[in-house]
Amino acid sequence: MRKTYNIAIDGPAGAGKSTIAKKVAKELGFVYVDTGAMYRAMALYFIRKGIPAEDEGAISAACREISIKITYENGEQQVLLNGENVSGLIRAEEVGNMASATSGYPRVRETLLELQRELAGNSDVIMDGRDIGTCVLPEADCKIYLTASTHVRAVRRYKELEEKGVICRLEDIENDIAERDKRDMSREIAPLKQAEDAVYVDASAMDISQVVARIIEIAREKGLEV
Ligand code: C5P
Repeated sequence: MRKTYNIAIDGPAGAGKSTIAKKVAKELGFVYVDTGAMYRAMALYFIRKGIPAEDEGAISAACREISIKITYENGEQQVLLNGENVSGLIRAEEVGNMASATSGYPRVRETLLELQRELAGNSDVIMDGRDIGTCVLPEADCKIYLTASTHVRAVRRYKELEEKGVICRLEDIENDIAERDKRDMSREIAPLKQAEDAVYVDASAMDISQVVARIIEIAREKGLEV
């Protein structure tokens, strides 16, 4: 059997990783793996249990009670938390903040590492997250570090929320994004950083189709034969 081809795509929140990765997956016939959704599903469990994010001991102990599985419905990733499909519940701001606050704990990361590696070993994947190129798949065939300016990312998020009818201030969103970046980049374990062999793509002035085309071009340069 031929070895699977893996594309790792890391970068800060709101850079467009999931939108882009989904489109690349569709064009190449790859499986898209959203690792943030796994951290979010774990966060949902901690919230439901009423465990404060600061209580590392209780969070670590709770990890033993958690089983995360991934399935696909019509090509869309579904996350199962102890058998329950929680995909529709994990996008809330509260869940994202809990995920960001707990993803630095070693137990939380260990719980997901094996599953992420297994998925990459089973099929051609494009996997997005914060530490895919640096920790999860250090041997990935193609690594991308996708980013955009804080302002551009905040404006995108603002528009998304506006469309959902959520009233918010751009300034608050910009501060929130900056804070989440800081937390993801400064944690001791698996911090967000560009892998040495990753290609840096700044999408601030690019539209979605340009970024998708650029990533496919980079993958071909790195030996992808599709
Ligand atoms: O990408 P998304 O916003 O869904 O991720 C939620 C949180 O999960 C991030 O803020 C980050 O702290 C964490 N995460 C991580 N490593 C990954 C993916 C996500 O630490 N590979």
